[in-house]
Amino acid sequence: MPRKPFGFERMFAAEAACRDYLVQLRWPEGFRCPACGHGKAWVTSRLHHCKSCCRQTYVTAGTIFQDTYKALRLWFQALWHVTNENRGVSAVSLQRALGLGCYETAWTWLHQLCRAMV
Ligand SMILES: [Zn+2]
Repeated sequence: MPRKPFGFERMFAAEAACRDYLVQLRWPEGFRCPACGHGKAWVTSRLHHCKSCCRQTYVTAGTIFQDTYKALRLWFQALWHVTNENRGVSAVSLQRALGLGCYETAWTWLHQLCRAMV
């Protein structure tokens, strides 16, 4: 991850960029179908459709993002905030940083992120 918010903003400005980042984390050598090992897939949103056996794989499966309906972008911003806020992160500061309407959402996210990082 880039160290400056500016770099972050540029890097993860689009939902697709966030998804591509996850794809890279998940398949550093390129996509591999978990069912048949085929390396080619159609990509739609967060799904990879294997061109050989048609198995669908969520990029987000097995990550803290798997059950989220929120934009990945927002999650990356939250992650960024948590890892770069030296003065300590609270649900309130996270809520403010992301412009979340609801304190409970910020609180839940914070705890999911903390759990994911330990
Ligand atoms: Zn396959």
